[in-house]
Parts: sequence; C-alpha cells; structure tokens
Amino acid sequence: MAGNWKMYKNPQETVEFFERFKLLLGEGHQCQVVFFPAAIDIPAAVHSTEGTAISVGGQNIYWAKEGAYTGEISAAMLHAAGATWVLVGHSERRHHVAHETDADVLKKTQAALSAGLTPVVCVGERLDEHKAGKAHEVLVRQFAGGIAGLTEEQFAQIVIAYEPVWAIGTGQTATPQIAAEAHQLIRSETEKRFGEDAAQSVRILYGGSVKPDNIRGLMHEPEIDGTLVGGASLDPESFVRIIEAA
Ligand code: PEP
Repeated sequence: MAGNWKMYKNPQETVEFFERFKLLLGEGHQCQVVFFPAAIDIPAAVHSTEGTAISVGGQNIYWAKEGAYTGEISAAMLHAAGATWVLVGHSERRHHVAHETDADVLKKTQAALSAGLTPVVCVGERLDEHKAGKAHEVLVRQFAGGIAGLTEEQFAQIVIAYEPVWAIGTGQTATPQIAAEAHQLIRSETEKRFGEDAAQSVRILYGGSVKPDNIRGLMHEPEIDGTLVGGASLDPESFVRIIEAA
C-alpha cells in the first residue's frame, strides 16, 4: 500500500503526520507500506519511520548519475538520503509537469535499479483514450516502450502501478472490473516478454481515487496486489483505514 503525497506537506507537517500515523497503525495488518513524500520531506520521513517497517521513496529521479541538470535529483542522491523506492512515469509527470516519454521512463527505471531503489513504474490511459476505447492499446504501447526494455533480472525487481489518468484526483475510481482487466492485460504482456513466472509474481498496484469506502471492492480482485493512493494518503486516519481494510 503506497501513498503518493504529490506536492503537499512540508518537513514539519511530515513529522506530525508520522507521529499520528504510527499511533494509529496497529500490528494487525499484513501490508507493505511505502510513502512517496516530496523530495524536501524525505529526510524527515526517513527519520520519522526509523525502526518501523514503513518505507520511503521519491516521486521522481533523473537518469544521469550527476551533472548540469538544475532542479533534478539522481537515483544515488535519493538512495543516500535514505529512500529505498521511487515512482517513475507518474501521469502528472508524463502529461503535465515534464512530458516524460516511455523512453524516459525506461531510463529512469534502469537508473533507479542501478542505485538500489525499487521503482514503481506507472502506466495508464487518459480520459480521451479511455472514451475512445483505446485503454488497452495505450497500456500495450507504454509497456512496449518502457518496461519491455528491461532485462528479466531488472523486471523481477520492479512494481507496476496501473493508474488510469481519468481516475486520478477526480473521485471517479475505476470499477474493480475495469482495473482487474487492465491488470490482466499487463500480466499477459509480461508473460509474452518475461515468461509465466514473472507474470505471476509481478506486483501490480491500482491507483486512482482510492478511498476507505472503495478499497474493499478493489482489493477483492485477485489481480490487484495493492494500491497507490494520492489524496487519501495525506490524512493519517483515512490511510490507516485503507491499509486495515486491505
Ligand atoms: C496518485 O497520485 O497516484 C493518485 C492515485 O492520486 P489520487 O488517489 O488522489 O487519485
């Protein structure tokens, strides 16, 4: 269960969040929990979660090791700051912030793995593509252009997130059936490129307006291994409810 904080919270708010979150989160769940705070909040998040099973990741990296790339952060820098995960190819970066391409996503995924980070590679169709019945075509293209360029060993270390763009931050969650069909397609593309074992073992998260009141239906689908939660992960109470229900 992953929480993407996007561009919310400062370091002080991060500390306050974890004080409350750790109190609320009991031992009764069996989820791996990862937070993706803004880069500036990573030291506070790492410090606040020391000695717990909670992991921390970045929301983005640049693929070069170092250099004249003003405003960017390398995978090694993120790792040195205590992060162990990273989001790659989030739709807000693909479509709004940085116009990231599938080729960029592949380079970032490879850079993350080289630095010892676990990448969560995000894929998903836009609303116009969804309405035009092109969702599966988009997923196949994003898989072929990005993920399929990994080696089998590299693929075994990534997590994939299916995030239909029309469901992100809109309150319009994909139905469990729509999400499960997309996950199935990703698994079948995985099988074609990396084999049956890889297809069975890859973890695929669903993301897009996941809330405490819709998590059960989504997690009921065997195809859905977990969720990437944006807005509802900013509040300790709602994210704990999501984790406990999952
Ligand atoms: C996200 O940012 O990845 C996301 C799924 O956001 P939300 O849960 O707010 O739709």
